[in-house]
Amino acid sequence: MFGLIFVYLPVLIIGLLFHCLTELLLVSFFIHILWHYYYLKILNDWLWNSKSTVLPHGKSEWEHAFIGIHNMQQRHRKRRNSLASVISRFREGSEALPDAVVVFHKSGEIIWCNRLAQFLLGFKWPDDSGDNITNLIRNPLFVEHLKSREYDQPIDLISPINADKTLEFRVMPYAKSQRILIVRDVTTYRQLDEQRRQFVANVSHELRTPLTVLQGYIEILAMQSEAGTRQEKAISVLDQQTTRMCSLVEQLMTLSKIEGAPSINLDEKVNVPALLKQIENEALTLAKKKRLQIKFSIEDKLQLLGDEMQLRSAMANLVYNAVNYTPKNGAIKVIWRTCETGAYFCVMDNGDGIAPEHILHLTERFYRVDDSRSRDTGGSGLGLSIVKHALSHYDSELNIESNLGEGSQFSFVIPNSYLI
Ligand code: ADP
Repeated sequence: MFGLIFVYLPVLIIGLLFHCLTELLLVSFFIHILWHYYYLKILNDWLWNSKSTVLPHGKSEWEHAFIGIHNMQQRHRKRRNSLASVISRFREGSEALPDAVVVFHKSGEIIWCNRLAQFLLGFKWPDDSGDNITNLIRNPLFVEHLKSREYDQPIDLISPINADKTLEFRVMPYAKSQRILIVRDVTTYRQLDEQRRQFVANVSHELRTPLTVLQGYIEILAMQSEAGTRQEKAISVLDQQTTRMCSLVEQLMTLSKIEGAPSINLDEKVNVPALLKQIENEALTLAKKKRLQIKFSIEDKLQLLGDEMQLRSAMANLVYNAVNYTPKNGAIKVIWRTCETGAYFCVMDNGDGIAPEHILHLTERFYRVDDSRSRDTGGSGLGLSIVKHALSHYDSELNIESNLGEGSQFSFVIPNSYLI
């Protein structure tokens, strides 16, 4: 402002004194415009052509403008450097991970991958940058998993470059429209798991024969012993314990069979109402002593595709548990009906219920809420584990609701795709 007054005030005075104000103003405007044009050109050259970071020399407002732009540039440079160092730290961290990491756009274009991804998945970097991930991992299960957008659970697949390796693929949404894929070599874990399952199956199988022989001899001894003698008592205890062992061995065998079973064969039809009728009869026999009220509410035509043995194990375990853990004169209700998402199975009882801290652990192997109560009922702690594994083959989960002193409700839904 002062600059303008400093330039134009003398022009005004001289112009008025010598009566040539218009001419003098025009000449001054022209010189003023040339002066601005000169600095505008310096600014343009500095911004577009010069690589120098040194501030160009300017006068009055132009000096302020140059300093302002220079400061802004410095701030941007600092921010860019710190972003670059965050990115390089992220990359270094990802390189140090023991897993393969691939960052890709939600439409599938690969943005970045670490070195292990090149080793485990056969990616070539940077050649594969921008390629669609489904062109490089062509397994249909992976493609379907990506499409489903339900990434809660990882999936196991055979390595695309080595058929002997099993890889675990975990996809996670990342930033706004990106995905991060973490791939881990789980070959050894899966082999160990399979060996453990095989071992349990073999041991249980081997135990079954001697136990059957023992049971046979115990029966003979029981027939020969006189009532009320110490020998008769001892034989009765032997009988109880071998029966418990037999049921434990049976449950172990069922569990390892279900665990090792491949996915459900959808060619087999299961007449669930008939199956539940058998379970109802068995439950009624078991519940006679306790005078339990048992009510089955079954939708007659609701049948499924799948494995009868697995369904029987899941449903029978839940019904027998209700019978075992509901005290005398209690009531049990079993429901099998269609619902919006599939077929709904539910077992309700008004027994003692389960405290909330136990509910999350109930499906763990050998987990029992009360050891002594389970021992009385002959429970092994494997029943609900069997149910969980059987249901996992049907893409279903066991839902447990219980209140201490009020009773429990065990339910699950078999998805529509398994319904006939
Ligand atoms: P178990 O063979 O001991 O019954 P489960 O795995 O079937 O083993 O059940 C685990 C535990 O859950 C049982 O020990 C029992 O304490 C509890 N439980 C299962 N069902 C019921 C039920 N209907 N009411 C109360 N407790 C139950």
